[in-house]
Amino acid sequence: MASRHDLHDHAVHHGACGCGLGLPRLSRRAVLAGGMAAVAAAGLAGCAQNPATGRSSFTGFSDISDDVAVGRREHPKLLEAFGGAYEDRRLQAYVDGILRRMVPYTEYPDLPYEITIANTPIVNAFALPGGKITLTRGLLAMASNEAEVAGVVAHEMGHVTARHSAERQGAGMVAQLGAVLLGAVTGSSEIANLASFGAQAYLQSYSREQELEADMLGVRYMTRAGYDPDAMTTFLATLGDQARLDARMMGRDPAAVDQYNIMATHPRSVERVQQAMQLAEAARPADPVVAREAYLNTISGMLFGDDPEQGLVLGQRFVHPDLRFAYEVPDGFRLMNAPDKVVAQHPEGAAIVMDMGASRTDDPADYLRGWMRGARVMNLERIRVNGLPAATAALQVQSRQGPMRAQAVVLPAAQRGRMIRFLFLAPPNAFGRFDEGFRRTTYSIRHLSPAEAAEVEPLRLLVTEVRPGDTVRGLSAGLPYGRWNDEWFRLLNDMQLNDGLRPGDMVKIVAR
Ligand SMILES: [Zn+2]
Repeated sequence: MASRHDLHDHAVHHGACGCGLGLPRLSRRAVLAGGMAAVAAAGLAGCAQNPATGRSSFTGFSDISDDVAVGRREHPKLLEAFGGAYEDRRLQAYVDGILRRMVPYTEYPDLPYEITIANTPIVNAFALPGGKITLTRGLLAMASNEAEVAGVVAHEMGHVTARHSAERQGAGMVAQLGAVLLGAVTGSSEIANLASFGAQAYLQSYSREQELEADMLGVRYMTRAGYDPDAMTTFLATLGDQARLDARMMGRDPAAVDQYNIMATHPRSVERVQQAMQLAEAARPADPVVAREAYLNTISGMLFGDDPEQGLVLGQRFVHPDLRFAYEVPDGFRLMNAPDKVVAQHPEGAAIVMDMGASRTDDPADYLRGWMRGARVMNLERIRVNGLPAATAALQVQSRQGPMRAQAVVLPAAQRGRMIRFLFLAPPNAFGRFDEGFRRTTYSIRHLSPAEAAEVEPLRLLVTEVRPGDTVRGLSAGLPYGRWNDEWFRLLNDMQLNDGLRPGDMVKIVAR
């Protein structure tokens, strides 16, 4: 079998189909994804010119109509990984309107473009081949006007018409790469499952060249449709600030953007977007559409943060009103609510992972023995946690990052036949430092009474008018980010550090 290196050289050689200029180099990834079949087919492929990019398309052997099937296949996977669809008819109609306004100006107006709003606070936007575009409600919360959303949609349409996903990796956009953070091996497959958290849907980022091209095309589409192209740079600045604030809240280097954030999957800078604007040579609309008030009125009432049906992250607390339990993680850990588990990660390699399992026994010690069957278990003990019977044991886990020490804790859920399961993980030499925090988390786990659960209401983004005497402190009080509330409020409202509030202005606030 050919080595990777051989495959690469082989592909580049055959890729020189000799028609047109600016043939993009076939990436090694694309070759590996398609294997030898792709290489062979590439040699035979015609070189149709893409009307959006003017480049000879070397996406192979397929044309853009084949992208539609790929997008249809990948879309449910993408949506599942990002909270499912957020159902809000008014908001949906509004973003559909933005899309429809621009479609006639693309080079492929007949593609079945479609926007889905993903029910997640993650800030991102995705384009699948063939025209399926996903905007997260986290992203919609950050935008301050219709033109900013139009800029994102237009940029995603640019990825579609330039066929970047197809160029990138042939077919699979949502690569199920399994565990990115921890490829854990224990003797117990169930424990390994829980320990192997990480990117469930690993999203590849575009190259900077593809980003520039998507921006050029996006500027073209949005200006032709009458939108103010400056919204693309203003919103990118907001998104960059959001990614940096997020990193600081996690105790990370502000430049270390979360892998799920739009700044990671779409690596752009304001300077590059300005360059794209010049390259696009698009005529500025005479009376460009911004539509701030209409947009703010439409997003007012939208869920903010997690959907309680999926459990809520409230700073260091996780509360699940439907499953009726809550717990707290120590400072420095960042809680993330994935579809099948809740992960709290510490920048120094420790993690607290939680999920639920079906159980035939009411005895947590019995359950723990079964759960860990096959693993090397040490010191299994029965404990009591807030009046509930619980069991705990230590074990070793092999991960891609080396050996990890783990402590498992199991206790019954409020619903019969289910167990709440925790795994506390840290590198062996660091476990001691985290041990006390792990214990505090263990003893913070409790059931919620039905009345307490009923009190957990979702946070909503509301748009309100600033009144005389209002302060940033006061207006930001409903945000769930504690000492970061002021900064978050400024970010949501495009306010610089020293900007004051002006009575009569519309601002976004967060409230129950
Ligand atoms: Zn992009």
